[in-house]
Amino acid sequence: MHGVRNSHPNLAGIVPYDPKYLPAKQYLSANENPSNVPEEVQLEIRKALKGFPFNRYPDPLGNELRDLIAEANGLSRENVLLGNGGDELLFNLALTWGGPGRTFLNVPPTFSVYEANARLTGTKVVNVPRKENFDIDEEAVLARMAEGDIDFAVITSPNNPTGKMANETFLRKLLDSSDALIMVDEAYFEFSRFSMRPYLDQYENLVILRTFSKAFSLAGVRMGYLLANASVIREFLKVRQPYSVDSVSQAIATAVYRNRSLFVPGINQIIEQRGVLLEELGKMPGVTVFDSDSNYVLFRVADADEIWRGLYDRGVLIRDFSHSQYLENCLRVSVGSPEENQVFLGALAEILNERS
Ligand code: PMP
Repeated sequence: MHGVRNSHPNLAGIVPYDPKYLPAKQYLSANENPSNVPEEVQLEIRKALKGFPFNRYPDPLGNELRDLIAEANGLSRENVLLGNGGDELLFNLALTWGGPGRTFLNVPPTFSVYEANARLTGTKVVNVPRKENFDIDEEAVLARMAEGDIDFAVITSPNNPTGKMANETFLRKLLDSSDALIMVDEAYFEFSRFSMRPYLDQYENLVILRTFSKAFSLAGVRMGYLLANASVIREFLKVRQPYSVDSVSQAIATAVYRNRSLFVPGINQIIEQRGVLLEELGKMPGVTVFDSDSNYVLFRVADADEIWRGLYDRGVLIRDFSHSQYLENCLRVSVGSPEENQVFLGALAEILNERS
């Protein structure tokens, strides 16, 4: 076969993102919402898609939804940007504030996509690891910021996969510490009920990331958004694919957002069920469970990869982080429906029992 020259050198050593989705009876691996969109909202979506102008390009910026999100957050359209999932906006972050000669501060273990995007765009990555209990090493982060070379940082609150929110006082100190752009990734904020939104009026260097994939049951649709000052949104507009958010996704997400109060009972149930998982996991011998403000729980157990396999053999798919850096022997289970959580807990208890 006639050969092809090498791809960009930044791609050397990059492994494509793998969500490790496998066929299973129970999916508790991707922090999805266990409930589908409520039936009445699905009906509204079907109506909205009747006679839909599929032949027309979408509104590039999705202004109808943009306005709804702005209004709900006490902001204006200029402060909101939609993306093809939060993932696209994370990529755009690396394109806008990263690049060759630029530096990104990362706080691992955290969502691996940040570092991958930085590497892809030739951005230097400075990792300031979390403490043993996965709390942010606040002094170390602030000391590193003080060196003055950081162009942007991402703080995930609550953090994925470890579960806890970042401390508000620390976030303020971080925003004060330099003019670097600080993204607070609030993909899971509906489960922690804390947002940095009130600080947008004060800090031009703050950008908040949110998603429809978790609390709003739309992981399959791909819709995320940024909240930021208009000057920051304008920079993101320069790199954005003109039609990144398709018109069908805009219509679906608009119907969901208009009916967002219908999702509150589901969110409350997830928070309640998180408590059940934390409590029950905490009682299991040999299991160290990490507290969570989110819709998943991380735990550590000896021979985690074998435990993961045992669960999978019983039809329960959770996420194996046991061979990831900083996360030795750690597994993450997403909060499912009450029934799913009981199946998971029963299967895990059985596996641990058999091994003891
Ligand atoms: N941020 C974090 C911390 C996440 O866990 C995820 C989803 N795994 C995202 C952003 C992106 O979500 P999505 O692309 O589905 O909006």
